[in-house]
Amino acid sequence: MSKRMRKSPKIHHGNVIPRSKNSCNRIIYLDINEKLEERGCPVCRLIRRAEEQMIENILYERVNDPGTRSDLRESLGLCGKHAWMLAHIVKKKYYLDALGPSIIYEDILSSIIKRIENETIPSTGECILCKHASEIEKLYVNGFASCITDRNIIEQYIHGSSILCLHHYTMIRDRIKDTNTKRLFSKVHINKLKRIIENLRRYIQKQDYRTTKPPSSEESTAWIIAIKALKGEPPLGGCY
Ligand SMILES: [Zn+2]
Ligand SMILES: [Zn+2]
Repeated sequence: MSKRMRKSPKIHHGNVIPRSKNSCNRIIYLDINEKLEERGCPVCRLIRRAEEQMIENILYERVNDPGTRSDLRESLGLCGKHAWMLAHIVKKKYYLDALGPSIIYEDILSSIIKRIENETIPSTGECILCKHASEIEKLYVNGFASCITDRNIIEQYIHGSSILCLHHYTMIRDRIKDTNTKRLFSKVHINKLKRIIENLRRYIQKQDYRTTKPPSSEESTAWIIAIKALKGEPPLGGCY
């Protein structure tokens, strides 16, 4: 998708977004604003960033923290998604090694053996990363909905390369109180989806042997953007 959306609707005087009484937190606004420039869902990307920061924080500073160890013991480690994210981060970051995860999982497995010996079925508590991700999601979804009027986030959404996934589009839309703003937000989102469809169609058309012009990178990667628009970001990052 290009940096600037060519077919984006303009906000004319008749379509000006009214000022909201909701307060827009400046830090949240700046975080969202930055991600609106990038490809993919800004909320998913902010959640991913928070998850990665927390995993690094656990491995770097909290391996021996009694509270963290107890939480991890209760949840039998992280859930599948976050445990593999942890493994991915350990492999990716040069300053992390196998020591942190070895200490954590030695502790968890020892605890499970004790529970099995006492004939207690090891039950899984809530993953601390899932809990954190859910709090971050609420923070940014609410932030998006309140900043949409106070600081014209919607204009950034029109012009940036981002596309909200269906889940976060719906969450934000449901939190916008003003009807006109809600309508405008939906219109902008629909135009972004239409733009993906145009690129998909152009790519398909260019597969015809009579076509001499090769597909653009925006057209050949439109299917990836379609997946992002429906399902959000890939669970382990990557170059999409
Ligand atoms: Zn999302
Ligand atoms: Zn989890």
